[in-house]
Amino acid sequence: ATPTALMVGTGRGAQLGILVRGPEVLEQARRIEVVVLDKTGTVTTGQMSLVDVVAGEGAEESQVRRVAATLESGSEHPVARAIAAALPASELGSLGDFANREGLGVVGSVDGTPAVIGRPQLLDSEGLAVSENLREAVRAAAGRGATAVLVGWEGAARGVLAVADTVKPTSAEAIARLRALGLEPVLLTGDSEVAARQVAAEVGIERVVAEVLPVDKVDQVKALQAEGPHGARGVAMVGDGVNDAAALAQADLGIAVGTGTDVAIEASDLTLVSGDLLAVSDAVRLARRTLGTIR
Ligand code: ADP
Ligand code: MG
Repeated sequence: ATPTALMVGTGRGAQLGILVRGPEVLEQARRIEVVVLDKTGTVTTGQMSLVDVVAGEGAEESQVRRVAATLESGSEHPVARAIAAALPASELGSLGDFANREGLGVVGSVDGTPAVIGRPQLLDSEGLAVSENLREAVRAAAGRGATAVLVGWEGAARGVLAVADTVKPTSAEAIARLRALGLEPVLLTGDSEVAARQVAAEVGIERVVAEVLPVDKVDQVKALQAEGPHGARGVAMVGDGVNDAAALAQADLGIAVGTGTDVAIEASDLTLVSGDLLAVSDAVRLARRTLGTIR
């Protein structure tokens, strides 16, 4: 394509709510075969709310809420914000020794007692016993599409908190349009397999890669790039979080959700200003049209 055509294409992108980093990005967009989508904040709104609290042995529900909210008051994660927001700030305990465990949860102390909140895997690795009852409560919540985390202190998990998110209203239509363009959608998430499958089914995605740690998302993109007859497939990645940045940079086309973090936007080639995923297919169609591969 001529430089003029590319410039026009870039300008048209802006009208569609798509910020294009540079004219060469349209070339990259044209070669895409697979679109990897982060779940939380990308396919879903990321506006989570606390929907269920289960207290385990040796704990009252009020204690479970208080310890969980206090720990999460130190984190910016969407799961953390939902849990912290469910308790008035005046009822929070005092938070000490806070440490974020990226993609897993948080450790710290509440009123001097060491405590942990996050995925079952984190409680296991911190040496807290998890009863079969609480594991079952986690599975049940995930089966309803919620994200369930465990909170524990003094040697054992003491409760489960389920937070739920809603799928963005246009996500299912956006996935259908990607398929119509011949692109394969893949859902990539750090959340549990069960919760991820639930969301995938809602929006019409068949291929799910779940329980992926933030540091491993980039390897999942590389693995998808290595698939296909020539050992090189064009992979786009759509994400919003700090934890998506490396994968966005690795992808042949990094697409940031404009309502997401600055880190994700900086790592990307395209930014969807409103965060509406319909703009992903718009971008691919724009690239194909600008470069003359569709009429
Ligand atoms: P995603 O890939 O869907 O954007 P993340 O990689 O950020 O999700 O997180 C993966 C999972 O780790 C979450 O679904 C949650 O179970 C757990 N997690 C991450 N941060 C926290 C936190 N601050 N508190 C509790 N759980 C957390
Ligand atoms: Mg996310």
